[in-house]
Amino acid sequence: MKLLIASNNRHKIREIRQILGERFEEILSLSDAGIDHETVEDGKTFYENARKKAAEIAAISGLPTLADDSGLCVDALGGAPGVYSARFAGEHGDTEANNALLLEKLRDVSDRRAHFLCTTVLIFPDGREISAEGRIDGVILGEHRGQGGFGYDPLFLPEGGCQTLAELSEEEKNAISHRRRALEALLAKL
Ligand code: IMP
Repeated sequence: MKLLIASNNRHKIREIRQILGERFEEILSLSDAGIDHETVEDGKTFYENARKKAAEIAAISGLPTLADDSGLCVDALGGAPGVYSARFAGEHGDTEANNALLLEKLRDVSDRRAHFLCTTVLIFPDGREISAEGRIDGVILGEHRGQGGFGYDPLFLPEGGCQTLAELSEEEKNAISHRRRALEALLAKL
């Protein structure tokens, strides 16, 4: 069976191929399948956004389709930025502004606990659906450390670790990430 990933993000596709590769005869990105479609992510939860992406692309392609949605949840901010992680400071994908706003909001805040959450949803053409969640806990530092990763990685120190996600290699990060944990939980349900 083929599996379509509702994304063109090369890192995501590579990671998904590593974890689910043995279960599917081929794993395709949107561009591999010739699909040009942008889902409006207007859900209130990671599950709603991931489900919407998977359902729209499964309807277009007729293939089993996997989508995910993820973000950072900070305890002292009541779970924010959450589903708004990519556009915390307003403009979608402005990492520098998002990280600066996070530091500003946590200035003088002693409770630095946070976690990344990822929800994956797999929808089959017959309507069957499997979903799973993964999480990594840690704390938000007071300044950036590291050059790797993306997004909030330079500010996030995983629980029990001494390197931020941006100081880890891609392999080290992928081994403990919320996305990896969500995909493994999904694999266990397949
Ligand atoms: P998406 O689910 O890949 O679209 O991620 C949404 C947003 O959450 C990203 O733009 C980042 O701001 C944040 N995010 C999700 N996963 C990570 C991660 O592994 N590291 C840092 N930021 C992340």
